[in-house]
Amino acid sequence: MCGIIGIYSDKNISKELYYSLYSMQHRGQESCGIAVLDGENINYKRDMGLVGEVFKEDELSKLKGNMGIGHVRYSTAGGSHMANCQPLVGSCRKRKLALAHNGNLVNANYLREMLEEEGYMFQANSDTEVILYILARYYKGDIVESLKITMDYIKGAYSLVIMGEDELVAVRDPHGFRPLKLGKKNNEYIFASEDCAIDILGGEIIRDVEPGEIVVIKDGKMKSYFYSENYKPLKKSCIFEHIYFARNDATIDNVNVYNFRVKCGEILAKDENINADIVVPVPDSGWAGAIGYSNASGLKVSEGLVKNRYVGRTFIKPTQEEREIAVKIKLNPLSTVVKGKSVVLVDDSVVRGTTSRQIIQSLREAGAKEIHLRVTSPPVQYSCYYGIDTPNRSKLIASNNSLEQMREFIGCDTIKFLDIEGMLDATEHKCTFCKACFDGDYPVKKIDKEELL
Ligand code: AMP
Repeated sequence: MCGIIGIYSDKNISKELYYSLYSMQHRGQESCGIAVLDGENINYKRDMGLVGEVFKEDELSKLKGNMGIGHVRYSTAGGSHMANCQPLVGSCRKRKLALAHNGNLVNANYLREMLEEEGYMFQANSDTEVILYILARYYKGDIVESLKITMDYIKGAYSLVIMGEDELVAVRDPHGFRPLKLGKKNNEYIFASEDCAIDILGGEIIRDVEPGEIVVIKDGKMKSYFYSENYKPLKKSCIFEHIYFARNDATIDNVNVYNFRVKCGEILAKDENINADIVVPVPDSGWAGAIGYSNASGLKVSEGLVKNRYVGRTFIKPTQEEREIAVKIKLNPLSTVVKGKSVVLVDDSVVRGTTSRQIIQSLREAGAKEIHLRVTSPPVQYSCYYGIDTPNRSKLIASNNSLEQMREFIGCDTIKFLDIEGMLDATEHKCTFCKACFDGDYPVKKIDKEELL
């Protein structure tokens, strides 16, 4: 999962790119990068680490330009190393290009082999390089035409920002799996994965880039194209962005993330007659759902877990061992709140079960009498091919365990998940969604070369 930003302006924008990336740090913490066009050359810096660590004041002052793009990365396709940092920067037929990508292609391996057979040499192993090479192969000066051809080749999830020598381009795949917003501030155009990156610059959110849309900013003007004349909207916005990934202050495809999360909690609590004392959210991702649960149940919310503010997202750690210790460092129970109490513990999702199992163990050690786990999303049963880092199916607790087996493994007294219908009701049906991680209904099939032979 990643965050992307692109700004077209008439003034130097490197600091704006930095602030916007900073606000989207939750979308990826492994590496980051900024590329700006100084009128002639593309200057860039990319490195492993957080935005605040990689970009110091003096680095930013070297990156001067009125147009630029940026990226924060958590690796899904391709490993976590320097060669996969973005934006990717290159030149083709004497024209410079830089590109940043959020999402995951489902046919990257196939395309990569095809390109390698043609003599292309890859420096990294992410799917983004495949996009850049296909784009470069057809780029003869008309970015829209070359993108339309590229979009015929690449399948899966991609939101892109691309910088040419005189234009900034934003692209969203025909299903619109990953978010991409368009904003404006005076003469400046801003594209970003989430609202917060535009808000913090004082910009106004104009709209979502539509699935299948190519938006070009050139000579200070915006033009919109669709990748195919026969294009039919296939809207499959990723529901997991709403459940977990995006910040509460995002609105994606007309569904406000915070309202959605609160509603999920309310729907989950409806018709439940639970004999408990307090609702405890798993911070931070369980808060909105817990508020909803509290609204509907009448039980008051209490802060039963203290969060260490200096630890990032636990799931976003490559090994199981690291994830386990990270949960312990991150959350500590408040025994004065939970001791002797019957607790409704609310979290947004259960994936492997690691987080809830550990939290429940520590809540018991802190004296909680009963723990009722309430999850404001359905059980995650299928891996995601489109950029959410869900592990292999065999590691998903819900894919090979009954509800009772999950309850036993996690160690709670009762367990309940929101069902798919309730989750969709919480969106108020303002959009259509990809929910493949819950029902296995994949809008785009994963393609490997072997399957095509
Ligand atoms: P797990 O411990 O594997 O069951 O992960 C569930 C916890 O991680 C929940 O507290 C979620 O808030 C969080 N989470 C769920 N999905 C993801 C994801 N794709 N990336 C990072 N964190 C996640």
